[in-house]
Parts: sequence; C-alpha cells; structure tokens
Amino acid sequence: MTNGHEFEQAAPILAILHEAGYEAYFVGGAVRDYLLELPIHDVDIATSAYPAEVQALFPRHFDVGIEHGTIMVWFEGETYEITTFRTESTYQDFRRPDKVTFVQNLEEDLLRRDFTINALAMTDQMTIVDYFEGKADLKAEIIRAVGVAHDRFHEDGLRMMRGVRFASQLDFDIEAHTLQAIEENAAILAHIAVERITVEMNKLWIGKNWQKGLAYFLKSGLYLHVPGLSEYATSLQLLLTEIDGEQAFDNAEFAWSLMFWCHFVQSGETDPKNMQKAIRQLGKAWKMSNQAADDITAYFDIWYLRSSKGEWDLVDYYGKNPEKLLAIEAYMQKQVALGKQLFADLAYPADPQKVQSEIDRLPIHSLKELAINGRVIIAQINPDNKREIGLMLSFLETAVLELKVANEEAALLTYLREHYQAKE
Ligand code: ATP
Ligand code: MG
Repeated sequence: MTNGHEFEQAAPILAILHEAGYEAYFVGGAVRDYLLELPIHDVDIATSAYPAEVQALFPRHFDVGIEHGTIMVWFEGETYEITTFRTESTYQDFRRPDKVTFVQNLEEDLLRRDFTINALAMTDQMTIVDYFEGKADLKAEIIRAVGVAHDRFHEDGLRMMRGVRFASQLDFDIEAHTLQAIEENAAILAHIAVERITVEMNKLWIGKNWQKGLAYFLKSGLYLHVPGLSEYATSLQLLLTEIDGEQAFDNAEFAWSLMFWCHFVQSGETDPKNMQKAIRQLGKAWKMSNQAADDITAYFDIWYLRSSKGEWDLVDYYGKNPEKLLAIEAYMQKQVALGKQLFADLAYPADPQKVQSEIDRLPIHSLKELAINGRVIIAQINPDNKREIGLMLSFLETAVLELKVANEEAALLTYLREHYQAKE
C-alpha cells in the first residue's frame, strides 16, 4: 500500500499516549480510506485518556470539541483530533447526543459509530481492529449500519444522509436492512440541522458514483425531507436517465446548476429569472454561502444561454467566468461522446476549443479595461448632463465588444463624437 505515511507521521502520538499508560488507536475514515488505498484526509485518534490528560500530554492543542471529548492537537506541522473513547446517550429529537459518556474500552467506542466500514480501528503497528466485520463489508463494497440500523438512524438521522453520501463517494451498495431502515426513517431527516445535510449532499454530488447515491436519495424518500427538493423530483430523475454518470462533477455547484437547468427545461418555465429566484431560495433554505448560490446562478446562466441561443456573439462571453464556460462546454461534449442525447441538438456542437478561442478574442474583460474613463470623458467631451457619462461608457463598452472600434483612447473619443446620441 502506498498511502500509509500519514500514519507513520502520526505514530509518535500513539506512542506518547501509550507511554503515559493509555490505549490509543487510529479510527474512522482514515482507516477505511487506507484499506481502500484512497487518499487519506484527517487521521483521527481515539484514546482511553481523558481530555484533560490529552491536554497535559500535548501542550500545543486547541479545545475544539471538548464537550464531545475531542482535543485538536498540533503535531509536527499537522493537526489531529484526539477523542476520548465514549458512548453517546440521551438523543433528543433524533439529533446528535446531548450527553456523551466516556468509557474505557475501544469496542464500546466503535459501537457508537455509524457504519461498519467507519468502525474500524488500527494500531500503530498497522494491525486492524475489526469488531463488526467492517473489513468484509469493505471488500464486498457494502454500507451497513453498526448494530440495528433502525435504532442507529433514530439516534442520529444524519447518518441516513451519510449512508447515501458514502454510496456515491465510494461507489458502494447499501445493505438491504440498512436501506430499509433509511426508507422507514427518512422523515427523521427533517429534525437535522440543515447545514449538516448540505455538507453531506455536496459530498454526494461530487462522489465517484453520484448517480448511485442520488438513486438511493430518491428511492429512499430522503429527498422529501430536505428543504425544497420535492418539486425537483422530476429533474433529479432526469439526471439519472439523461446524463451519463461516468462523468463525475468537479464541484457541487455545477451539479446543482444542472438540476436547475433540467428543471427549467422540463417544467416549460420560460423566464430564466424565475430560476435565478429559485436558486436563491433553495440556497437560503440549505444555508449555502452567497458565493455558492452565485456560482450556481452563474453556471445556470451559461446552461440557459448555451441551450436557448444559436451562435454566441462575443458580448455573450463577456462577463461570464471563463472556467465555468469551459467546464460546461467540456461537460456537454463528453456527454455527447458518451452517447447521451441531452446536449446533442444544441445550435452548434459543444466545442471547448472554440469557446477558448472566443474568450481569447475578447478585447476587454470588464469595464475597467476600457481605455477611457469618466474623467477623460469630462475633460474631452464634457456632457451637460453628468448622467450621460455612464451611458457613454457602456455605449463604448458594447462597441468595443462588437469590434466596431479599437480599445484605444483616441479611437474611442472619435467614435463617441461620431456615433453617440444622447437620449432625451
Ligand atoms: P470523510 O472522509 O468524509 O471525512 P469520515 O468517515 O472520516 O468521512 P467524519 O465526519 O470525519 O467522517 O467522521 C469520522 C468518524 O466519526 C467516522 O468515520 C465515524 O466513525 C464517526 N462518525 C462521524 N459522524 C458520525 C455520526 N453522525 N454517527 C456516528 N458516527 C459518526
Ligand atoms: Mg474524516
């Protein structure tokens, strides 16, 4: 295996805990990803030491989640979460526990974890501790709840979203009882803080088999218990049938925008402004950042214009994000190559090279790049009505983008004198 060095780097932490007389193991996603030979993100550690004892052993720490027994430790340029073995109790409203109880053995700690593949532990000798046949499930590529699935989802409804997210991310199937328990308990999701759902949904979108995750999300009825998605059932379904899922999404906003565009097309909606409103609304309901909502809108505007307009003029490229333009064009091209029809009857075939050369041809990328500004216009033309200045600038902006005049100060002034007509 090639991805073990993260554990070598962290091994001294376990050694320090051992020397002080405590048990300590690597746990959670890092162990899972190590066995799957996937890149490892955070190496998490579970220990029998109490938080105060961890703090004493590791002077460079932050108390990020101390109420849950977690101390963040800074060690040789990396941060690690060290969490005291614990169980969780008194779940209210199907949310995270409001009380944790520290325990003295690893098995009890692993018992509280969501899925068998996430309930593996590993010693500093890289020996796997596997109480719940997590390794067998990894091999069989199965997501199975630890213990009785129904109870586990009642304790914390978010686990159901995590389940479908892992199905997408790992391209695993959900074990039958676990899936049935998701179907039966989907409504519990309504009790979960939306930010936590958003994190999982966005991970689902960018997973390697997002169609598998999305199919579970739809089939289980989970989508009915997250904000505002019930009216998108048809377009979500279209993403399963009309898109080839071999193509992963680079980012969640891209995926969301495709859902909105499918909705736009399929619902017969004619005004793209209504979709922009719908994006704002959903963004708010899911507590997305303004940036995320802006990105979804920017992608949507490109899908919309590309599918509804024939040949683009240079002006159409202006003000649009080049990366997004290229990403969409490449995406559509690949879908056609994969034999899908959704983008097969565009006014002209998807062609990223053409888009790139049009972007390269843009004489300016924003008003700031215009070789003239308000001050020069005042000095040289001095219109009676100062409001005219803005109108003149945008008149010149359009003329430059239509390649009617070169972006040079003298040429722009001449063009303005000869062609600009003040509006009464
Ligand atoms: P990722 O690769 O996305 O980080 P992960 O499995 O590491 O996946 P984390 O949220 O980092 O997920 O959690 C670390 C570990 O904590 C999990 O592997 C799992 O054992 C446990 N865990 C996390 N969230 C829950 C939950 N809601 N219920 C039960 N156990 C959980
Ligand atoms: Mg993790």
